[in-house]
Amino acid sequence: MTSDVLEKILKHTRQTAMLQSTMALLEWDQNTGLPSNAAEYRAEQLTMLAGLLHKRRVDPQLGDWINQLSEQTGNQDPLAPSSVMARCIKREYQRAIKLPQSLVQAISHATSIGQQIWVESKLRDDFSGFLPCLEKIIELKRQEADCLAAPGQSRYDVMLDSYEEGATKERIRRIFDRLRDSLVPLIQEASEKSAKLGPSVVEGRFEIKPQEEFAKWVARQIGFDFDRGRLDQTEHPFCTTLGPHDHRILTRYSKESFSTGFFGVLHEAGHGMYEQGLDPLWYGTPVGSAASLGVHESQSRLWENLVGLSDSFWHWAHPHLLEYFPGSFEGVPLEQLVQDLNRVQPSLIRIEADEVTYNMHILIRFELEEQLMDGQLNARELPNAWKSKYQEYLGVVPTTDQQGVLQDVHWSAGLIGYFPTYTLGNIYAAQLYHAADQQLGGLDRLVRAGEFRPLLEWLQNKVHRHGQSYLPMQLIEQATDQKVDSKYLVEHLKTKC
Ligand SMILES: [Zn+2]
Repeated sequence: MTSDVLEKILKHTRQTAMLQSTMALLEWDQNTGLPSNAAEYRAEQLTMLAGLLHKRRVDPQLGDWINQLSEQTGNQDPLAPSSVMARCIKREYQRAIKLPQSLVQAISHATSIGQQIWVESKLRDDFSGFLPCLEKIIELKRQEADCLAAPGQSRYDVMLDSYEEGATKERIRRIFDRLRDSLVPLIQEASEKSAKLGPSVVEGRFEIKPQEEFAKWVARQIGFDFDRGRLDQTEHPFCTTLGPHDHRILTRYSKESFSTGFFGVLHEAGHGMYEQGLDPLWYGTPVGSAASLGVHESQSRLWENLVGLSDSFWHWAHPHLLEYFPGSFEGVPLEQLVQDLNRVQPSLIRIEADEVTYNMHILIRFELEEQLMDGQLNARELPNAWKSKYQEYLGVVPTTDQQGVLQDVHWSAGLIGYFPTYTLGNIYAAQLYHAADQQLGGLDRLVRAGEFRPLLEWLQNKVHRHGQSYLPMQLIEQATDQKVDSKYLVEHLKTKC
């Protein structure tokens, strides 16, 4: 059923998406080669567009249409595009109007300053310099959560729900607790095995050009569509969508490490292929948008880790690697390469962590930020709380805050409740891979032959094309016929031991 009012909402939403993608283009450009003296004007352009965007989001006319649509779709199939539109746009609209303009501006100001101060404080290893900003941000985020909370809903649940609709700390804690109990012995066993390995073959000296060519070639082979996207270099890798047929992935290559660039590309290509698998006819609307951050991360992690670190993948890729890097990998046997890529070693820095220990870094942040939001922990106590959690969960303790609580940008940017989506993504990825493996009759054989299309089509069919029709966890449960469970991730990680 297409009603007049749905048409009006669609038109409004699509125009908003056009404005948003224009901002994304300016941001992409800002991150790929903006002349340094152009930064100030670019910031002005983005601020003006952000203001226009906010105005559209709280447009009272839109509110009226949403109410009319909700009345019309009340008894309809919840998966019909009009019902999905009504649910998602109403949610976004209500969030926008519940927040006073003054609070929105205060958060935007505090986080923009916060990120600058964070950069300086991290450089100087000076947590006390960052503390007043962090206290301010936490206070404002608490206020934001209070404005948005439904009766009885905790602040941290509000934050989680804004990144992963429907997720609650109780449910996440149950999933994560089980994961943690399984990870502790696994980390022990896997790192003992890794300690016996010889010197690394993926660290050393690698020219950028062959890295770029090889990564691009692999991204094309796994299914990233370069007629609808491109790959560029940047300082902080990301993926962005500039239109229904324009998906940009960005990575950073390192001359010292083969893994940095290559797995960065696989990761971002996974994000990009998800965006490319959304229905372009519904571009800019909830039906044609990604389900959540966690589901997005599941797509990047699936290609980066489940596929990219597997024995079968390198069975296929190894001869090609030797062609692209005739010097660097000459004489390195396949088995040694795979073992080396899968080294496990507890460490201090999240973004450098291996696949097995990575989730411990997230669990630590999840527990700390939950306590911060609910007031059981003060920002001032963070450095010590951080150290004792690292000691407890990973057996390593940072001697500086630079390598500890100051390492991530998230809190300075007001992104509280964001970290758990990384581990949810890993959990979803393993569960999806397991289900695809069963349904496609063995992924190992396909990957070994370099046949990635069946897996990509399975993901498009089970995940991508549904947009936001289901809540994130429902989508995974629907696709895999199983409740969300960390056991598939644990099973997968056991292969590293
Ligand atoms: Zn990602």
